[in-house]
Amino acid sequence: METGNRERQVLVVFPHPDDETLAVGGAIAMHAAAGTPVTYACYTLGQMGRNMGKPLFATRESLPLIREQELRAACQHLGITDLRLMGFRDKTLDFEDPEALAQTVLDLIQECQPSLVITYYPGWCVHPDHEALAAATVRALRKLPAGQRPKLQCQAFAQGYQAALGEPDVVYDAADVWERCYAAIRAHKSQTSAWVERIERALAGSPSDRDAAIGQIARGRMYTVDADTVEI
Ligand SMILES: [Zn+2]
Repeated sequence: METGNRERQVLVVFPHPDDETLAVGGAIAMHAAAGTPVTYACYTLGQMGRNMGKPLFATRESLPLIREQELRAACQHLGITDLRLMGFRDKTLDFEDPEALAQTVLDLIQECQPSLVITYYPGWCVHPDHEALAAATVRALRKLPAGQRPKLQCQAFAQGYQAALGEPDVVYDAADVWERCYAAIRAHKSQTSAWVERIERALAGSPSDRDAAIGQIARGRMYTVDADTVEI
């Protein structure tokens, strides 16, 4: 990665099972492969997700348990050694008290002492849960003296983000561990089976199709964010 030296500890903060894999799976796999312990605080079980598998195999009742199992398998593939299920309900984080939500992130930071925190980019991450938790992470960092804060890297994907934010400064290619990233994508079966079908076809296709599919799985970009200046 272009982030320089190996991190001491990474803390990943997202609301849904599969955000870790689909947003920054390559980055997590690379940190883990370098020997850095990775903690993932997953705030909900994605119980309100609309995808129930293709062909259908989940119900509204069984979905949280299925997604938890998928998440545990994905974490093993990516090398996440410490999974925290934070116990909030899907699609409700924006109704939580912002200060109380920020305190839960601060508690994690103080316990894990990460050198790097990864979450979504506030204002550029589409879903209300993503936005609420990205803002809470920034609020948590602001509670720490500037000299004692871990670095913050954020993934943006809302339309127009690059025109607004410029080129991402953190560019990674997890080509060495792409199979781990792909195994994590496959593990989130209730959410990813349609995409996996397309990847399978590409992997079995021409060398350029295969390379493009591996690139899509392994590459990613993030921004280094200053908690004091980013808008929340
Ligand atoms: Zn999500």
